This record gives sequence, structure tokens and C-alpha cells, in this order.
Amino acid sequence: MVERRHTSQRQWVLDTLQSEGHLSALDIYNRVRVQHPDISVATVYRNLGILTESGQVQIVGNSNQKEIYDARTDSHAHFICRTCGQIFDLEGFGPADAVKIQQLSGHRVTEQRLTLYGMCRDCCEMQAKENIIQ
Ligand SMILES: [Zn+2]
Ligand SMILES: [Zn+2]
Repeated sequence: MVERRHTSQRQWVLDTLQSEGHLSALDIYNRVRVQHPDISVATVYRNLGILTESGQVQIVGNSNQKEIYDARTDSHAHFICRTCGQIFDLEGFGPADAVKIQQLSGHRVTEQRLTLYGMCRDCCEMQAKENIIQ
């Protein structure tokens, strides 16, 4: 009975992440809480830990000092805006050449994560407009 409750809480966390894309633990908590007011932040963190360990969720990087989780676990790159905090999937950037890396360095790649940080297109456009006004 207890385990079933934990399983459904884990499912709420996973469902929220799958439907909303990239979220921090606190974002997930605030969304799940609307439907299930009795869930705690600690429960969300614990379930995110379990989901990350089992490979159903990945941590893509950090935005505003918060770790960002993603329910999409295929190898894809991310861009995180340091100005507004938005997180974007970057399509078309394949994984690094693991075979070549092992040939050159002797290191065997078992997982990889590409996360780029900078200023997103929206913020760049906004800055360009502000510069024109000034
Ligand atoms: Zn931005
Ligand atoms: Zn993603």
C-alpha cells in the first residue's frame, strides 16, 4: 500500500516533466501541488533522484542556480539562456564521436551531455532594440 502511494507520486512527477518539458524540482513541485496539495518538496526531490538514477529523467544543466530536469532522455543538446533562464532543445547536434575520443585519449565514453549557455534569440533581439532606443 505504501509502495503504491510512492509509485503514484513518482508518476505525477514524471507526468509533469513529460508534459511541460524542462523544469526545476521547484517548478515540478509547484505544478504537482495544484492537483495533489499533500505532496512535499522532499518527496519531489526524492522521486527525481530515483527517476534520474533509473534513466527515466536526466539533468541537463542549471538555470538560476537550479538544476533543470528533462524527461526526454535521448541524446540531445541544450541551450540555456543566462539572461531569461529559458531552456531550449538544440536539434541537429549529434553526439561527440566516442570512438575517436577513445582512439585519441584512451577514455571510454559511456554518457555525454552537451549544454551551452549564453543569450537566447529573444534576449538578443530585445537587447538590439534597447540599443537602438538609447
Ligand atoms: Zn533569454
Ligand atoms: Zn531537452
